Amino acid sequence: MTAIPPPLVDLRGKRGLVVGIANAQSIAAGCAQAFARCGATLAATYLNAKAEPHVRLVTAALDCPILLPCDVHEPGQMEAVFARITQEWGGLDFLLHSIAFAPREDLQGRVVDSSAEGFATAMDISCHSFLRMARLAEPLMAQGGCLLTVSFYGSERVVANYNMMGPVKAALESTVRYTAAELGQKGIRAHAISPGPILTRAASGIAHFDELLAHSANSAPEHLGVDVGDVGALAAFLVSDAARHITGTIIPVDGGQHLLA
Ligand code: NAD
Repeated sequence: MTAIPPPLVDLRGKRGLVVGIANAQSIAAGCAQAFARCGATLAATYLNAKAEPHVRLVTAALDCPILLPCDVHEPGQMEAVFARITQEWGGLDFLLHSIAFAPREDLQGRVVDSSAEGFATAMDISCHSFLRMARLAEPLMAQGGCLLTVSFYGSERVVANYNMMGPVKAALESTVRYTAAELGQKGIRAHAISPGPILTRAASGIAHFDELLAHSANSAPEHLGVDVGDVGALAAFLVSDAARHITGTIIPVDGGQHLLA
């Protein structure tokens, strides 16, 4: 009798870090569930003590032996997460950076009017933190690995009310390309997934987000909105060995909306 080969997207034996779960609606929660379903062991983080119980509700159902606080804007917290992973696992196969922040007054105003401080904060938390994570992950990915982040179409085109996050996501996407080029020789790959609008806590900070959701579901070629499970399915594929020669991409999961003028 011939043995049945393992599934193509097989994350058994892989260890991944998930940063960005706020609650069950988070894109990072959908990805964590997909990673776990494919057999991965996870480390996850929560922003602060207030967020912790909501994050635990998600991670309790997963194989997630490491759960630590991580505010990327607070010096030392990200380093502590990687120190624990080094101590417990000695290596890391993939990570998901699924975080963004912009001060509300800057986010809801014109890009032209954004403050230098607000812009710098948004860039630090939403973009430069990906580079810091990549740098900390690099020595742990001696056998190669995969770095994922999450972007949005407002990086390329002007989307009403997306405002300052547009330029920030454009920088994030470029960051992904340079990271993929610089770490490719070590077998470390990098991607951004670019979902269509999904109602999450971060999304609720964008003015008139309900209109963006409705427009997207009505206008996308599929005439359907996407959900965090759709994003998770792509994320699980990208970090798997099945995608080992794919790197440096920005992949839409948006029912085809990026195709439209
Ligand atoms: P979410 O609110 O569930 O997740 C955002 C996460 O960012 C939260 O877990 C929050 O704790 C974290 N965060 C904010 N500041 C942080 C800091 N200083 N340190 C560490 N973590 C911090 O919302 P989401 O929609 O799942 O957002 C995840 C990512 O997806 C973001 O990058 C967002 O821009 C992107 N995205 C969202 C949509 C959408 O429509 N929801 C579409 C495309 C891209």
